[in-house]
Amino acid sequence: MKLMPVFTSEAISKRVKELGEQITQDYKEKDLIVVCVLKGAFMFFADLVREIKLDLEVDFVRLSSYANKTSSSGKVVFSKDIEISVEGKHLLLVEDIVDTGHSMAYLKKVLTARKAKSVKICALIDKRERREIDVQVDYVGFSLEKGFIVGYGLDYAEQYRNLSGVFELKFN
Ligand code: 5GP
Ligand code: MG
Ligand code: MG
Repeated sequence: MKLMPVFTSEAISKRVKELGEQITQDYKEKDLIVVCVLKGAFMFFADLVREIKLDLEVDFVRLSSYANKTSSSGKVVFSKDIEISVEGKHLLLVEDIVDTGHSMAYLKKVLTARKAKSVKICALIDKRERREIDVQVDYVGFSLEKGFIVGYGLDYAEQYRNLSGVFELKFN
């Protein structure tokens, strides 16, 4: 296996700052809960919330999907639910990468049903090629067509999460 550099930590910091500024503008005067989708988004989330210059709450959710290692299927469940009551609050879901779209479509549906005032999605990477569900990614760090990505929180078999940059993992 080989790691090919895709985004440097400098490029990521710059983009995260821009996203933070945009989110700060959009959520002025709103009760905001920023929700980290574990585990992959942990590093992006930690950097992003520091660039959002507003009073906000944080919470954490973990989803699991019955699928193979490199893609998710339509079947998604919580393996850790969020703990804050979301009714009447504006939620921003922070995800590492949107691929087929099933995970974010599920989470958005569930949280909307709990009467959140709004539910938006911020993803570090919007990966287009395998999209199956037309879920709106409101804030996109970077767009990619395809490839299996690791680093900056993202794993392959739980490895590579601690890398500061984003890499494409080549299996041959
Ligand atoms: P989906 O959008 O298909 O429901 O699933 C998204 C989830 O699948 C991501 O949050 C991530 O956990 C995993 N995933 C999809 N593509 C990649 C990838 O390129 N690299 C890694 N590490 N995980 C991925
Ligand atoms: Mg994820
Ligand atoms: Mg994973």
